[in-house]
Parts: sequence; structure tokens; C-alpha cells
Amino acid sequence: APERRSWLDKLRAGLRKTGSSIAQVFTGTQIDDALYEELEEALLMADAGVAATEFLLTDLKRRVKEAKSTDPVQVKGLLVEAITELLQPLEKGLEVGTHTPTVIMVAGVNGAGKTTTIGKLTRHLADAGQRVLLAAADTFRAAAREQLLVWADRNRVDIVSQEGGDPAAVTFDAVQAGRARGCDVVIADTAGRLATQLHLMEELRKVKRVIGKAMDTAPHEVLLVVDGNTGQNALSQVKAFDEALGLTGLVVTKLDGTAKGGVLAAIALWSRQRHSPVPVYFIGVGEKLEDLQTFQAREFAQALLS
Ligand code: GDP
Repeated sequence: APERRSWLDKLRAGLRKTGSSIAQVFTGTQIDDALYEELEEALLMADAGVAATEFLLTDLKRRVKEAKSTDPVQVKGLLVEAITELLQPLEKGLEVGTHTPTVIMVAGVNGAGKTTTIGKLTRHLADAGQRVLLAAADTFRAAAREQLLVWADRNRVDIVSQEGGDPAAVTFDAVQAGRARGCDVVIADTAGRLATQLHLMEELRKVKRVIGKAMDTAPHEVLLVVDGNTGQNALSQVKAFDEALGLTGLVVTKLDGTAKGGVLAAIALWSRQRHSPVPVYFIGVGEKLEDLQTFQAREFAQALLS
């Protein structure tokens, strides 16, 4: 489909900043220590982090030995395989429909692309015939509430919002309203910054608790939106929010035009070492509606090395 090709082109063009330095490693004629050293540097530069870089290098060397490769182009292909295999467990679609409503709590620091992502996700679900209700629980930031109201209006979906209200109370009302109205999905936007990180996590935990009071199986999803362009910082956020809330999924935004696309490898390694992997439901490759895409490990690995 042309639409799919265009986002891939965009991802490829975006990741070229990350990829060119990695692909560069394989332009020589020899496979030697210098190549591996260059590759290590390139992966670190791409913000894959020390652990994922070591993991990939070890895995690649094993593959090279097994295949008895002597050609750098072939080794590059083996690296695509290694990265694909590492990223594969992150590949999973967001499922709604098991509960009425499915309650999705969305967290993320200000600027990560949380509001944009909620708008895109709402549109995506509404297009698929789902009845969505939004909860504007980022009551501290007037602009966030207004932005969400615009999104709700544009997508003709219901929204529960109260100026300056208590975030937990707004969310509670929204979940109750979602149940009463027979909505398919309730998406709760939450605050991205308070006085301190401790305050923020406390508030988010409270919102999560209160969602459970309004519907005992909920929240069904706790999503974190992170800015892929912040590299290792994104990984720190994933760890901190997971510790506080227990994440069920991630959205990694701004992968168009970043030099730090390697962070997906770091997230994948973290996810692999967790008791259960946290998938990347979507990636953001632009500001437009169609720029929220499902994550495809192989396509991503190929784009990373193109
Ligand atoms: P929030 O503070 O987390 O709610 O962030 P916003 O949704 O307001 O987004 C912050 C900025 O990032 C806005 O200018 C968005 O248009 C932009 N943005 C969000 N997602 C993407 C993306 O995937 N790619 C690009 N290039 N920009 C994005």
C-alpha cells in the first residue's frame, strides 16, 4: 500500500541520521577487530547503550563465526538479523474489545508527544468503529486540556474534563461514564510534570488506583509515551515509570529524523530482562495523523542500517 511505503520511506529517511554511521562500518573489505570497534562506537553513538551494544556485538560475532562470513556486506545482513531478533518481542498490536470499556491510562513527561499520540490513537480507534471516551486528567496544564478538547471535537468523541479538577476524580468520572454509555475504549491523559518526580509518580499511582475503583479489572493498559529522540533518557523514563506503575506498553515518538534510533535496542534488551516483555504498540514518525504506526522489528532493523 502506498501509505505504508510512505511511512517506511519516512522512517528510513529519518533513521538515516542514525543509520549512516552504522552502515558506514560495513563499507570496507575486511572483517577484523577494527570493524567491530567501529561498530561498537556507532551503536553507542546511536544510543543503543552499553548493554545492548555488547549484546549485539556478541550475537553478531557468533553469527559471523557460524556463517563463516568473510564479506562485510554479508556481516551487515547478519547484523540486521541480530537486531531483528532482539526487537521482535516488542512487536505486538494493541488489543481492545475484551472489556467494555477497555481503559487505557497514558503517561509520559511533557513534550514526549503524549497529547498528539492520544489524538492519533483516538482517530485510529474511531476509524475502526470503536466508541472512544477521553479523560482529560492532566488538569494542571490548561493547554493540555484544551488541546485534548480540540482533538475530541475534531474526532467527534466524548470527553470528560474539568478545569482545575482533581485528576483522580476526573478519571473516575470518565470510567464511570464510559461504562454507563457503553463505550468501547476510555483513554485517560495524565500529567507529565509536577513539582517533583516523586509527586508525579504518587499522583499517577493514585489515578491508577482510582481507575481500579471505578472498574475492578481496569486499567487494562498502562501506556508510556517516550520521545525516541532523547535516546538513553527515554530508557530511564521507561524504567522509572515501570517501577511506579507497571507498564503494559510503550509508544516511542519522534523516530523521524533522530540520530538516536538505537534506543529501541536498549529498550528491547531491558524488556527482555523483565519478567514479561513490554511491547512497543506504536511508533511516531511525524506530526500528522497517519504518522502513528505499528512497530515492525524487521522493517525497523533494515531502516536502521540503510
Ligand atoms: P505532550 O506534552 O507529551 O502532550 O506532547 P505533544 O503531544 O504536545 O507533542 C510535543 C511536540 O512534539 C508537538 O509539536 C508534536 O507535534 C510533536 N510530535 C509528537 N509526536 C511526534 C512525532 O512522532 N514526530 C515528530 N516529528 N514530532 C512529533
